[in-house]
Parts: sequence; C-alpha cells; structure tokens
Amino acid sequence: MLKKAVNEAKFTLTIEATGPLLIRSGHATISGPDMTPVRTYRNGHWQVYLPGSSLKGVIRSHLERVCRTLNPSAGVVCNPFLRMEGLEKKAQIENGRLICPDYPEVSCGEKFKVRSKKDRLIKIKGFQPMKQEELSNAQVYADSCPICRLFGSTFYVGRVSIRDAYVTSTEHTELRDGVGIDRLTSGAAQGAKFELEVVSSGTSFETEVYLRNFETWQLGMLMLAVQDLTDGLIRVGSGRSRGLGSVRGEAGEVTITHLGKVENKPSNEIWGLGKFIKGDDWYSRYGTWSDDVLTIDSAPKEERNGIREVSVFCNEALVELQRRAISAFVQRIESWQVPDAMTFEHLDFRKV
Ligand SMILES: [Zn+2]
Repeated sequence: MLKKAVNEAKFTLTIEATGPLLIRSGHATISGPDMTPVRTYRNGHWQVYLPGSSLKGVIRSHLERVCRTLNPSAGVVCNPFLRMEGLEKKAQIENGRLICPDYPEVSCGEKFKVRSKKDRLIKIKGFQPMKQEELSNAQVYADSCPICRLFGSTFYVGRVSIRDAYVTSTEHTELRDGVGIDRLTSGAAQGAKFELEVVSSGTSFETEVYLRNFETWQLGMLMLAVQDLTDGLIRVGSGRSRGLGSVRGEAGEVTITHLGKVENKPSNEIWGLGKFIKGDDWYSRYGTWSDDVLTIDSAPKEERNGIREVSVFCNEALVELQRRAISAFVQRIESWQVPDAMTFEHLDFRKV
C-alpha cells in the first residue's frame, strides 16, 4: 500500500469467556460474522483457538454500527454485502455523470471494481463508459470509507492485522444439549436435538493486534473496540440467542513506534499518517489530515531501538492515550464527509 513505513502500534489483547463459547460445528451462519473457537493441533495436542480473521470480522462489524450511530449520513460506512449489480437499473446519466441512488452504501471493494474494470457491471441502455480508471493506491485509500481504510476491502488489505488467539489458561470444554433450529419456522426442528461442545466460562485467549501506517483516529477506533470488549458489549460466536458467546477483553500496554529520526517531534506527541506525510505532494492524495496528532501529557519518553523510536504506554499514560485517541475517532467520524457519491464523475459516458 503505502510505499514507506511511517508508524506502527501494537498491543496484546486478552479475551476471556464469561460464558460458554460454542466450538465451531462447521456450519455456515447467516447471522453475520462469527467468532467461534475452532480446534487446531498445536504444540503436540489439540486445542481450541479464536481465528484472527473471525476476531477481525466481529470487531469490524461492531465498529460499523458505532460509526453509523456517530454519523447517520447514508454511506458513511459501506455495506460490505451490497453489490452494484441490479442498482444500475435505477441509475441515470446527467451531464455526463452517472447518478445512482443507493451508490453510497455499496461496498467499497465493489465500487473500485466497477471503476477499474472495462468489463463493468454498469450497463445502462444507450450509454457506454468510455474509459477505464487507473486507480492508484492513494485513490483507493482516499475513497474508502473509514471502516475499509482500517480493515480493508477486496481491493486493499487494510491497516490492522489480528493474530489467532490461543488459550493461555487451562482449557476446559463441556458438552451441552443443542436443539436444531428449523429454518422455515425458526422453531425447534423435530428430532434435531444434538450435543454442542463449548469452551467453558473462564477460559482465556490471547492475541496480538498490529496497526501499520495509521491515522490517529484509526488507533482510536481500535481503542474503542477494546473498551467495548472490556465492557462486555461485544458478544461473539454463533449461539448468541442461546445465551452463548459473552466475553470480556482487555488490552495490555500499547507500543507505538515510528521509523527514522523525525525533526521537531516532541516526545509527548503521537503522529498519525496525515502528519508524517504532510506537505508531500504525492502523499497528499491519500485524503489524510495534516493535524493528525495526539498530545499525551503523561506520555513516556521515546526510546531509540535501531532505526526506530519506541514509546510504551501503560498505566496512566495508557488511559490517557485511549481517551484522547477515542475522542479523535469520534470527532473524525462525526465530521466525515460522505463524498458526493451519487455520481461516478470519473467515468466518461458516451451515447451509443
Ligand atoms: Zn467501505
């Protein structure tokens, strides 16, 4: 994505089951992202773990709801399941621009696909797009919704990665009676009683969360997810309606690193991507903000480690970091400008 590495944040996240967690049966769920533990063979025995990709999915979908609450504008975050196909029937051409009512909600990945492909999904009677758009990394980043800027889309890998979470406590699992759900009536299906294996309450998992080339509000977005995990507001896994899936999360110290010597950066400032690339012509196309800085009064002193400057936030400094980062996130999302996305102004349509 970004050709240079400017900053990085990482922390350990502990997730404790505060109720039983269903172990994945292998059935697909229709209730959205899942964070069900699965089994793997590791260190000489079978153990359960929470896949990092599922954790990421659960946190992403929680944050999508948070963003929609903070800023109710249509399309402030995209709907990852909304495709372009079919919507073009309602589209119109006006002054060479394509106006499509539900366009803001379309998933970012799908928008980029439509923009960059000659073989477009957009087929409007009487009109044909003239050219294909060369999408630069900067353009994709700038035009992604805040969720996709952090978590990625089918077009771009995102800035956060979450490792698989392994059990750190003694692992306990138990069997529970399950009842099959009839897909038509949503009632219990006859004769479909079976046993469910669950991870017992009290089991702890641990994972690492990495954030690269981040804007400070993105750090805040993750900190808010951590806070909501701590408050037990994020339930996970299938079987939520059976009272399964309650967890509590906690972040350890947060390590923030930037690369190389940076002139005039006080130790108590955390610079985001926007501040690092400020004034750089090429990078100005990333759609970041030049005032991308958090000032942390109780910040620890930066320590030099090779080419890196490292600050480790814990205790009081960690609390202040979380508070200021979350406030930057809230401000950013509340004022997020949804582009005049009813139009594909970059497409040049001609009459055929
Ligand atoms: Zn998006």
